[in-house]
Amino acid sequence: MSNKAQYISLVERLNQLSSAYYTQDMPLVADQEYDQLYQELVEIEQQQPQWIAPDSPSQRVGDKPLDGFQPVSHLKPMLSLNNAFSDEELADFYRRCSSLAAKDELELCCEYKLDGVALSLVYEHGLLVQGATRGDGTTGENITSNVRTIRNIPLKLLTNNPPARLEVRGEVIMPHTGFKAFNERAVRNNTKPFVNPRNAAAGSLRQLDPAITSERPLAFYAYSIGDISVGTDFTTHYEQLEFLSSLGLTVNSTTRICTSLQAAVDYYEQTDRERTLLAYDIDGIVYKVNDLALQQKIGFVARAPRWAVARKFPAQEAFTTLIDVEFQV
Ligand code: NAD
Repeated sequence: MSNKAQYISLVERLNQLSSAYYTQDMPLVADQEYDQLYQELVEIEQQQPQWIAPDSPSQRVGDKPLDGFQPVSHLKPMLSLNNAFSDEELADFYRRCSSLAAKDELELCCEYKLDGVALSLVYEHGLLVQGATRGDGTTGENITSNVRTIRNIPLKLLTNNPPARLEVRGEVIMPHTGFKAFNERAVRNNTKPFVNPRNAAAGSLRQLDPAITSERPLAFYAYSIGDISVGTDFTTHYEQLEFLSSLGLTVNSTTRICTSLQAAVDYYEQTDRERTLLAYDIDGIVYKVNDLALQQKIGFVARAPRWAVARKFPAQEAFTTLIDVEFQV
């Protein structure tokens, strides 16, 4: 059992790590180490809820936006995801959702958890007017000029009847080939290579000069609608993904609907076996309750929806092999 001083120092340590990871794109430790410390924090907070600090990472998302960019207030908070590290924890998630939804069997939308950077895109009357990072979930950074340089993000939606306003959320990634080529060039030119594709995507998106971003091989995958002025007749999350795809946004074609917990576990295992063959990094599978009415019924906790969970894959690389490479911000 920890005492309160130990708890406070754990909060401070995690905040220091988060700031390096989110704000400076320069992780100080491996994600696994961060996740272990975070898990410790959650367990202490469950035992001693009266200790919970307002700046505890369990109470917030990400970290403060960088000063170099204009702040953007998100219409709806951009949240994080709760994690499941085992089949048992996934089963707990399924049981919890079934019980809150009062249904024995749930349809889950199963998506790759792309290991990149969250991005919000706002389209007005079909035209891209804003791109913003998640930031601390409430306030992000306006990176519109950089976002416009990402080739697979449509500047105009493919429809004659666009919604007055549409906010699309998704992930920006740097595929392996682009990452490898970029790092080889960096070494040849005696500049700093990136530590991994996620770090490369984050650093590339937050360049103050869009000309630099435009040279970086980035791609965007849409994974949800943040807000829409019309079209609220969707009944499932999957229908929303199909709608985004019809507008010319890239949606991952590997997304599956699973109608049982066993099918969801099988999808995870199959993807885990095959993921080294993918063209980009993924760090887990995101399971989302597909029915939008049930999502509403199941609701949210402080920093994440209760109707979704990220089942993480075991780490593939040890951080010690990565810290030999210098970081690029
Ligand atoms: P997260 O990155 O684990 O999960 C939430 C994010 O998943 C969303 O913001 C979204 O961008 C992304 N995502 C990818 N595919 C998605 C999909 N299909 N549907 C929905 N969302 C999808 O959560 P987080 O709160 O941003 O960060 C926690 C992670 O960051 C942990 O894995 C932790 O290890 C890592 N971290 C590491 C350090 C470090 O020092 N190494 C510090 C802080 C955080």
